[in-house]
Amino acid sequence: MTLNAVDTQFFTEVLVVGGGVAGTSAILHLRSKDVTLIESSGSNTAVAAWNIMIRDADQLAEVMLRAGEEMNDRELLSVFVDRHSSAVSELESLGVRFRKSNIGLIPKLRSVGAGMHAILRSHVSGKEPKIIRGRVVSFLVGRDNPGHVEGVVVLTQDGGEISVFCRHLILAGGGMSGIYPFSTGESRVNGSLLALAYDAGIELIDIEFSMFHPFLIVDSRFPRHLISGEILTRMNFTDADGHPFLSEVAADALRNNRHHWMFSFITREFYLQSLRGGIFAVIDADREWFERFKSDDEFGFVFSGHSLDDIGKIEIHPAFHFTLGGVRVDAFSRSNMENVYVVGEMAGGLHGAGRVGGTALIEGWIFGRRAAEHVNDRPDGREAWKGNRDIVRTSEGHTGVSSEARAYVWKALGPVRNGPDLLTAGKWLRDNALSAEERLIGAMVNASLLREETVGAFIREDFPTVRDKRHSYVCGTNVRFE
Ligand SMILES: Cc1cc2nc3c(=O)[nH]c(=O)nc-3n(C[C@H](O)[C@H](O)[C@H](O)COP(=O)(O)OP(=O)(O)OC[C@H]3O[C@@H](n4cnc5c(N)ncnc54)[C@H](O)[C@@H]3O)c2cc1C
Repeated sequence: MTLNAVDTQFFTEVLVVGGGVAGTSAILHLRSKDVTLIESSGSNTAVAAWNIMIRDADQLAEVMLRAGEEMNDRELLSVFVDRHSSAVSELESLGVRFRKSNIGLIPKLRSVGAGMHAILRSHVSGKEPKIIRGRVVSFLVGRDNPGHVEGVVVLTQDGGEISVFCRHLILAGGGMSGIYPFSTGESRVNGSLLALAYDAGIELIDIEFSMFHPFLIVDSRFPRHLISGEILTRMNFTDADGHPFLSEVAADALRNNRHHWMFSFITREFYLQSLRGGIFAVIDADREWFERFKSDDEFGFVFSGHSLDDIGKIEIHPAFHFTLGGVRVDAFSRSNMENVYVVGEMAGGLHGAGRVGGTALIEGWIFGRRAAEHVNDRPDGREAWKGNRDIVRTSEGHTGVSSEARAYVWKALGPVRNGPDLLTAGKWLRDNALSAEERLIGAMVNASLLREETVGAFIREDFPTVRDKRHSYVCGTNVRFE
């Protein structure tokens, strides 16, 4: 059933916001018959390459700790590795067929992201949740009881507003790809739900940690798309004059597909080159390999219609890829608000200061299920609002990120940061931030400024050494490092 704006007030047992892999997993695992899904268009689940890293549990924990510089939340990591292989089997039982990829598994589908999204959605319809298509623009919180979120206000696709009240709220709004001018992901996934959560007093962890990717194609002959996997082992990277700029260590790691463990190191070299001038990739392979790559590889479609001889050099640019920080959750995906669960890319902590490739989608699946199971175990919970408590609406009005704020984001919150740029951005945001998203960007700038050290997630030029690797916790205007 799809709800329209004529139903201006609506009550539901469990409300899930976000229809990517994390929200879908939550819906599929909930036992309640009274579930509502709110989703807007655009999801990184539908554009992802769907690589899944396969390792046994000990090795998986080891590589994730190495990539995360041991800042990973150990409880979340333990849930993740314990449930990893059963999560893959569960996807298989839903009809996903996998083949081997260079880091583990990948679905046997031509258009992987869209195909996976369609498979998952076909199972959602069997559960018959009520569906509201639109964008959550405010949270509804009790005036005297800030420890709960009573519901949300949705701006529906047809321009109306619905207030949805719930007993349990599962937030699966994805990351912040849309706030960055250079991003591998969906611009419509713009951190708005995270920003509303922050405005409502939900606590964030390491919100200043982002993962960047060196290889976004910005050459107008090709789709603006990330490239990864085997093609990187067949590429030489140069500046505009054709001179190689990578260190020997970085060039060697890329050639030999060992760069996954040193992603931030490599990204830094690409980012610094992007500030000096352009970055170009030249494919170093024979025609036969290239034709096979175009037809067999998940990134082959990027080059369809082009032959190796006419491609020449391809312009690329580093870009934002994944939100490492997010809402602080416990091992049951619970936030600091008693009835609010947060899952998928919107939650922080699992990956610490750096994420290893092929772990994000399965994270969404595992923790979406985890939240659903916790809700299933406590069907009574707190009674949903029925006019019996005083309610206030958070973040009224303006949403979105202005182009000026976006420019500050890339300069101040890119892979290499420094005090003066952060101070300038912070001042501009204090004076000009209008939307919840811009206030969240202000919190990220502030936490980056206070973190006077270099960690995997970003480099502070003015504090080049690693210090004590404490976590940042941001709640309202309060920031603490522990
Ligand atoms: C190009 C690319 C390739 C990737 N490849 C891989 C890979 O190979 N392997 C891997 O493990 N990971 C990969 N990732 C990462 C992975 O795709 C994401 O981390 C994952 O899809 C996040 O899932 P999610 O459900 O948390 O969020 P999403 O899939 O982004 O879904 C978020 C949902 O929330 C909704 N939403 C957001 N705000 C609001 C709002 N205010 N109101 C209502 N709805 C809202 C959106 O419309 C959407 O439905 C890749 C990412 C990108 C960008």
